[in-house]
Amino acid sequence: MFSWLKRFWEVRTRDPQPASSPVIIPRSEHPVSRSSISDNAVKVMYRLKDAGYEAYLVGGGVRDLLLGREPKDFDVATNATPEKVKELFRNCRLIGRRFRLAHVYFRGEIIEVATFRGHHGDGGSGEGETRNGMVVRDNVYGTLEEDAVRRDFTVNALYYNIKDYSIVDYTGGLDDLQNGLLRLIGDTGQRYREDPVRMLRAVRFAAKLGFRVEDETESALKELGELLADVPPARLFDEMLKMFLSGHAVATFEMMRHYNQFGILFPQTESSLEREEQGFPITFLLHAMENTDRRIAENKPVTPAFLFAAILWEPVRQLAEELRKEGMSKLQSLQVAGDRVLEKQRKNISVPRRFTLQMREIWSMQERLAQRFGKRAYRTLNHPRFRAGYDFMLLRADSGEVERELSDWWSRFQEVDDQQREKMLAELSPQQRKSPRRRRRPRKRPAAGTRSAS
Ligand code: ATP
Ligand code: MG
Repeated sequence: MFSWLKRFWEVRTRDPQPASSPVIIPRSEHPVSRSSISDNAVKVMYRLKDAGYEAYLVGGGVRDLLLGREPKDFDVATNATPEKVKELFRNCRLIGRRFRLAHVYFRGEIIEVATFRGHHGDGGSGEGETRNGMVVRDNVYGTLEEDAVRRDFTVNALYYNIKDYSIVDYTGGLDDLQNGLLRLIGDTGQRYREDPVRMLRAVRFAAKLGFRVEDETESALKELGELLADVPPARLFDEMLKMFLSGHAVATFEMMRHYNQFGILFPQTESSLEREEQGFPITFLLHAMENTDRRIAENKPVTPAFLFAAILWEPVRQLAEELRKEGMSKLQSLQVAGDRVLEKQRKNISVPRRFTLQMREIWSMQERLAQRFGKRAYRTLNHPRFRAGYDFMLLRADSGEVERELSDWWSRFQEVDDQQREKMLAELSPQQRKSPRRRRRPRKRPAAGTRSAS
């Protein structure tokens, strides 16, 4: 138990509050200080307060500070309407169709200011517009309490009040935070139906915070996965980035598979994993996710293109192999397979074109890297996508999908001078020049029970 919470709880049990009123933790009893909140967010809250409005820090900012983590961003909630917020800040833009929000711009930071959100009848009918049971517009303003119960998880519905620096809890979020529990607020089925993305958020937060998903929150998660098929593909792309580029891609991927979300969003990859009998692809995908997490931990850049190229690699590779059997060249088969797999994937998740272009190049690079002779090797080395293609091949080598000799050769080829490069090329045997992809046993994590008996 957090020591600050323990102290507070002892006080509270002595002095119980009526059930409907919020739990309020005074500044002296919790660890969130103004100095740990971004200056810009503090500035925004003070200006709202000075103009006579309520202003609170809410969401991940409060949650992460209470957990002693560094928040990713700071969100503010207020009873001022977006129009009023805009009047108060010159550097402000109103955004959002689904729910109007104010973005206040600072150098290097955007503070999102949301007006308290209210109810709109049962199950999303009434004032909120719905489509297939999903809320598409619900610009209805409300009270702080209504705002709290419209949020997704209890630990995301904690408010830090700029007026007296207290923390306000309407939904039992402090208890859940203390117990490491992720609990959806309200009727779980209804809340997931209103916005199926909440199912992905459940997995994202559970993986990131290392929290257990509370039983009801979890059972609805297992039942309603299919609803994800109705979410607009562009929103799903954004959500996938948050999930896989959070520094917890491995845990996220494993949980997504556990709840069958992965299969719904990446059906081609899922069926290629099921078809595969030797355990390579899962090893490769895990390596790709581990690699992403490591890079993020080291503050190195990660590109969505690389990650999506990895996720879709196995279906591309399998289809390319089939096309090759029908007589297509190696390079062309990879290109055609890449196009077809991307075309199908678009129905679920729409990857922006600037990324799909890079993904195609990373895939074709796999064949270019396998052809090591004369000028071609130099052309590959100087290709703008060489680095990504080479890193991708290293992952394949790590999972036993390509010969280590090939990846080692390229590691060396990059480092040596021209004279030595010529020597390296001259020393290659005829087979090495057109290295056939020979599959070996994986080095790590063979998928238990999936290997065929033959
Ligand atoms: P992080 O920023 O660390 O990813 P967060 O909790 O701040 O986590 P955001 O996506 O920034 O998440 O959203 C801010 C807050 O808005 C959330 O904490 C939650 O209270 C609310 N929220 C966001 N998305 C939804 C949703 N789909 N349904 C209900 N509430 C939501
Ligand atoms: Mg946030």
